Amino acid sequence: MTMTAVDSQRNLALASQVPRRVRIEAAPRPVDLAAAEHAARLFLTALGIDPDAVDNPDLARTPRRLAEAYAELLSPQPFDFTTFANAEGYDELVLVRDIPVRSMCEHHLLPFTGVAHVAYLPGDRVVGLSKIPRMVDHYARRPQTQERLTVQIADALASRLQPRGIGVVIEAAHSCMTLRGARAAGSVTTTSALRGMLREDARSRAEFFALTSDRAH
Ligand SMILES: [Zn+2]
Repeated sequence: MTMTAVDSQRNLALASQVPRRVRIEAAPRPVDLAAAEHAARLFLTALGIDPDAVDNPDLARTPRRLAEAYAELLSPQPFDFTTFANAEGYDELVLVRDIPVRSMCEHHLLPFTGVAHVAYLPGDRVVGLSKIPRMVDHYARRPQTQERLTVQIADALASRLQPRGIGVVIEAAHSCMTLRGARAAGSVTTTSALRGMLREDARSRAEFFALTSDRAH
């Protein structure tokens, strides 16, 4: 059986319809829960809290819970980043708004929480929409600064999706700032990272910021 030029063209077109999956892994990091529990016990004791206090038996498992909670919050989850051919040639902004952000400030290991808005201008490929929140969560689960988290999400999408433009905005409250220190309750920090057309083209940039700052919707 010979393959005509038309057949091979069609095969090429079909091949580009096949979803492309890239596994996003985190650097392997051993978690020693027993050692973390032991350290948590020492930490609480050093702060004058006795986990073995007979008058408060509920504290007995607190070092273990503390270790497990931090292990969970600081362990990036691997996932498949799935993209598809942009068969319809969609060339307008794709925006996923109000993605929950839960991360840990690297200075105090206290949480900062808020939302991310992630947009891209598709090139040859589009991404499965659920992968964008997964990407946000993946980079959030490590000791972070909000600025770096914003940039990492933008760069990860730029390299794996190669769209014509990317915009990432994060709005978050830092508990190290709202609960202690300055006690600036209600303060929100906004960071942004723009790539490609969203950085260079004034109209695209304005559209992105109008869509992400519109609190009425
Ligand atoms: Zn902090």
